[in-house]
Amino acid sequence: MNAVIEEPVATLTQLSQRRRDALAGTLIGTAVGDALGLPMEGLSARRQQKLFPRPLRHRFLGRYGMVSDDTEHAFMVGQALLESSDDILVFQRGLARRLRWWLIALPAGVGYATLRAILKLWLGLSPARSGVVSAGNGPAMRSALLGVYYASDPVRRHQFVRASAEITHRDVRAEVAALAVAEVGAWMAKRAEDLDALWKSLAELSTVTIWTDMVATLRGAMTNQMSVAEFARRVGAKDGVSGYALQSVPVAIYSALSHRNDFAKAMEEAIACGGDTDTVGAITGALVGARVGPTGIPHTWRQGIAEYPCSPAMLGRVAEKLAQHAEGESASGSLRYLWPISLLRNLVFLFVVLAHALRRSLPPY
Ligand SMILES: [Mg+2]
Repeated sequence: MNAVIEEPVATLTQLSQRRRDALAGTLIGTAVGDALGLPMEGLSARRQQKLFPRPLRHRFLGRYGMVSDDTEHAFMVGQALLESSDDILVFQRGLARRLRWWLIALPAGVGYATLRAILKLWLGLSPARSGVVSAGNGPAMRSALLGVYYASDPVRRHQFVRASAEITHRDVRAEVAALAVAEVGAWMAKRAEDLDALWKSLAELSTVTIWTDMVATLRGAMTNQMSVAEFARRVGAKDGVSGYALQSVPVAIYSALSHRNDFAKAMEEAIACGGDTDTVGAITGALVGARVGPTGIPHTWRQGIAEYPCSPAMLGRVAEKLAQHAEGESASGSLRYLWPISLLRNLVFLFVVLAHALRRSLPPY
């Protein structure tokens, strides 16, 4: 059985459009999931329901959403790819340099492992040696785009994901989770239907028992049509999904695969699990976005993001440049933007985060 079921007749123009849609859907889907999940990050599923009753909508800044590290890192991966998608060392150095300057702009949310790794980069360690021992989901939140970009090139896909992951994390669980997100991203971008082929390629990512068991759990849950909430409990997320790579990533993958043609449903169920909702939302959004493209993402969710530089428009431009790059057009080189605005933006963001923290200390509990 072929791993990829292509539509019967796809012209070159259709394939090219499909690549554009997949890249834009991945980046914009990341931003939408991140922004929707951000206001409820760290809340239990129960408290989330009380503070943020459905329907799911942007609530970070009034009726608008803003994004966090998940989208910023995916944006940086896109920029580093535009700088070099051929030379893995140039790509890794480019991504490491962006992470260093990203930290200087004082982001309100940065994972502890990522923070320590970036400080090591500033101390002069090479990106191949800066990673710290952590099984967090940092590498996974920036790897969907690599999977989509290298959808037809498994060797490069794995190399680039590993190069991206090792800058910050050097635990095999963080690495395999990042590889898995890329693998599912590639499968989604191809609009494949053969789940058995996907389980096989996921299982082949690592021989570590904790991983092969997880793939079996995913497969069994899908066969039994388990709900996303039930699956989350099954992988130990009883009162919210943690930032542990082998908890948050399987929940995002499961939600994305269960509702792979329905962006809104995948997002609602993933976020309703509570906990690390911005990262789980971002990964779910990236994966379903790769399949349904930007127009498959609810319009109000796309329009409701107030951001700089990671606005849906800018992310769309990165995707367009990446598509040209992949087709060998001479559109290489990363996108320019006004970085001083990021400093001002981060200040506004910090105040909104503090306002949310205050709001959370008040009822209903
Ligand atoms: Mg985040």
